[in-house]
Amino acid sequence: MPSATPKSSFWGDSSPIKILRDVPAVRKYQAQLQDKHKSLALVPTMGALHAGHLSLARRAAAENDEVVVSIYVNPTQFGVNEDLDAYPRTWDTDLAQLQQLNEELNTRQERGRISAVFAPTTKTMYPTLPPSSEIDGEGSFVTITPLGKLLEGKSRPVFFRGVATVCMKLFNIVKPTRVYFGQKDVQQTVVIKRLVTDFHLDIEVVIVPTEREHDGLAMSSRNVYLGARRRKAAVLVPKMLQIAEKQYLTLGKRTREEIIRPAQAFMLEEFAAQLQLPPEKQAIMDLEYISLADPDTMEEVDVVDERKGAILSAALRMLPLEKVIDGEDTGENDGGKRTVRLIDNIILPALKR
Ligand code: AMP
Repeated sequence: MPSATPKSSFWGDSSPIKILRDVPAVRKYQAQLQDKHKSLALVPTMGALHAGHLSLARRAAAENDEVVVSIYVNPTQFGVNEDLDAYPRTWDTDLAQLQQLNEELNTRQERGRISAVFAPTTKTMYPTLPPSSEIDGEGSFVTITPLGKLLEGKSRPVFFRGVATVCMKLFNIVKPTRVYFGQKDVQQTVVIKRLVTDFHLDIEVVIVPTEREHDGLAMSSRNVYLGARRRKAAVLVPKMLQIAEKQYLTLGKRTREEIIRPAQAFMLEEFAAQLQLPPEKQAIMDLEYISLADPDTMEEVDVVDERKGAILSAALRMLPLEKVIDGEDTGENDGGKRTVRLIDNIILPALKR
């Protein structure tokens, strides 16, 4: 909840964002804030910042005195076959965006500001053993099961172990009052809430709605890899979810079959239409899952409990382009050869108390 702290106490502070690289520097900074009774928020990110990340930082600044944005590409959440090195790293533009956000916060006389970026090395984050991405790798890990094995965890078995582990480390280093996560990665939000509950962490978890492009596609660091043709097709993901949402919200449907089937039928039609196109116009997709799950456990449900609502989520892979036309916009890096995995979700709200 936004606090009633007067805006004027921090407004006008245009000092540059501190760059903190190691644990003692963060501890010192945190202790100073604590002495001044200032609330501290943490926004964990892997960089390559876009408007989605900034919406988290903006919300954090509205509800807290000081905000730390962490930028760290965490190796343990990447599987051995996933390309950690290919993850976009855009340090200069990340910082420029945060600085610009601070100017905006200043102008609007918001309560807080982005006062620090925590950008540790891997040696700092994993001080004892090198970070392992192996399923049975050695090291100190936090595992949250069965939650972390479902949905995203099925195709990425070490992902949530990596996320829970790095977040536990970040929470212990930064000691924030509140942490901010995006609904975009909905299973991650459920994992983090479980982490906080089960380890009795004295932290408030705030979930911020998904920031979308004008056509409805959820913003993601991976969208730059799509290129124009696959970018257009990617809009089918939110559309499909909206079809399922409508069954619940507008048409009063409650069973899994009634909610998900029309969305699947829509996708099948779209897939068939793509296959009719010549290869230089096709954007072929592979629907990995569409899920209707309990909001606390992410277990699949057959009927939505109106007192709880449900999480509707999907993952889809945009396959490489089979044929590329000369000069075509194929996205960054790879001429459309990279498979791009997209996830999205809509929360079906509780309708009864
Ligand atoms: P990442 O850098 O991908 O680990 O994301 C850092 C945080 O930003 C996570 O809490 C994400 O859920 C959140 N985030 C990513 N994309 C969006 C978006 N489109 N809208 C809101 N939050 C987002």
